[in-house]
Amino acid sequence: MAKIAIIGGGVAGATSALYLGQLGLDITLFEKKDSLVSGPPFCHLHAGGNLYREIPNSECITLLHQSIDLLKFYPYAVDFRPTVIAIPLEDEGNPEDLLARLKILQKEYHDSILKDPSNKVLGNSDQYFKLFSKEEVEILKTKETKALPKTLDDWMIPVAKNVNLETIKFPLVIVQEYGLNLFALASGAALSLDSIPNSKLYTNTKVMDIIKDDESYIVQYNKDGKSLKESFDYIINSAGFRSGKIDDMLSFKRDRLVEFKAAYVTKWNSCKDIWPEVVFHGTRGTPQGMGQFTPYPDGYFQLHGMTKDITLFDKGLVKNNNLSSQPQLDQKFIDKIDKQWNEEDVIKRSKLAIKHLCKFIPGFCGSEVASKPLFGAQQIPGTNKELRAADVSFEGDRYARCEVVKASSVLTMIDQIVLKLVALRYLNKEDLGKRKFKDLDIKLEEIEKYSRSLSQSRGYPQSLGSRNIPNLQDNI
Ligand SMILES: Cc1cc2nc3c(=O)[nH]c(=O)nc-3n(C[C@H](O)[C@H](O)[C@H](O)COP(=O)(O)OP(=O)(O)OC[C@H]3O[C@@H](n4cnc5c(N)ncnc54)[C@H](O)[C@@H]3O)c2cc1C
Repeated sequence: MAKIAIIGGGVAGATSALYLGQLGLDITLFEKKDSLVSGPPFCHLHAGGNLYREIPNSECITLLHQSIDLLKFYPYAVDFRPTVIAIPLEDEGNPEDLLARLKILQKEYHDSILKDPSNKVLGNSDQYFKLFSKEEVEILKTKETKALPKTLDDWMIPVAKNVNLETIKFPLVIVQEYGLNLFALASGAALSLDSIPNSKLYTNTKVMDIIKDDESYIVQYNKDGKSLKESFDYIINSAGFRSGKIDDMLSFKRDRLVEFKAAYVTKWNSCKDIWPEVVFHGTRGTPQGMGQFTPYPDGYFQLHGMTKDITLFDKGLVKNNNLSSQPQLDQKFIDKIDKQWNEEDVIKRSKLAIKHLCKFIPGFCGSEVASKPLFGAQQIPGTNKELRAADVSFEGDRYARCEVVKASSVLTMIDQIVLKLVALRYLNKEDLGKRKFKDLDIKLEEIEKYSRSLSQSRGYPQSLGSRNIPNLQDNI
């Protein structure tokens, strides 16, 4: 049986191992850390890419279809709450500018359900989005918030009650863009992999070098203090922002960008309501950069502010040079990733993030810093820093390089890898595009229990390992 080495256990590597393991291949997944999916975070599914005004509609459509696929593969990782999109008064954009794209996405979603009814994972297509005038929001302000919001109007109530309506333009948009819980995904993927006997997971194992040997590769790795070697027929490089290092081991040349970013974990002690995500649009990199208010259970909120002193960093975006495929991040970022953040920095940036959001949500102003940020470096293949829908590239017949920018692209990525493995006759044509596998019988409670413990063991509140709305039926 063909032996596949997967280097890096982020969402790309974990999905590759799960998928190919279920197709019966002999998989070894190497991860240098002690658990899966512990690299840069994700909290948005991006089912339509509506957070990104700057990308073309075609990319939004791709993200929509990819997100539907991801949601079906990892249903236990999705928080089924919608996203409200607000345009601040100070911003040059207008809500109407979003409308054409929303209609295109709604039709795409509608058509995809007609093609395959199992694609109906974002609710009814006629409810994919809804607009609210100022008058309608003023009426919702007088309503009681719901313990379990069911309609788009219900979801809008905490926004109507708490957002300063004098700071934003109308109409407000609410769209079925859901949350993605990285701890739940890590937990479910790890438990599932455990039950696939032909998939081996080597944690705390770092790949040090790879040597090409005719049709195979010799992978040299450090595990439990020992230096070991093993031969493989196929390599999947899923080393995330360090993919260039693996490319360099084999002298493969690939241009890429690497960007370091952070999102901040805060607690709004007096908040008892279930919120949708709220996005306040803004121009990236300016002091008015987009603000993202991402809800978790128990009053925790994750914040992004697309300014240089909150989520983005001066010199945080770097590209590779002619001599190496690995972009070199400044050592201060590598220290944050491999060692830790300094406490002063955590407090300073988290407080700036709170300030960035509380100019729109005044009641949020007294919120606390709850933990260190969720942070990391991500790769973007090529040289376009705005690219969001990317998946995989190849060198020859036996080397795949995972290049997802958004987690939702991993099923498109694996489909293309399967195509290559079919060409090598490691898999059959019937395996192409496969979505249904034998039930691995992992209980949701087990996934949540491990997810919460992962969150805690990585230094975050346990609540971040839970989802507010774990079932679509509870959303609409
Ligand atoms: C602040 C922030 C917010 C984000 N928000 C979102 C979001 O809301 N939605 C979204 O979809 N995306 C989001 N992203 C992007 C997303 O996090 C990444 O695109 C995604 O995690 C990439 O996954 P990956 O598996 O390719 O890489 P990674 O998760 O980086 O995984 C690579 C793995 O390889 C391992 N590794 C590296 N070298 C070796 C080696 N030599 N030997 C063994 N193991 C090795 C690493 O330890 C790591 O675990 C965000 C990114 C950031 C920074």
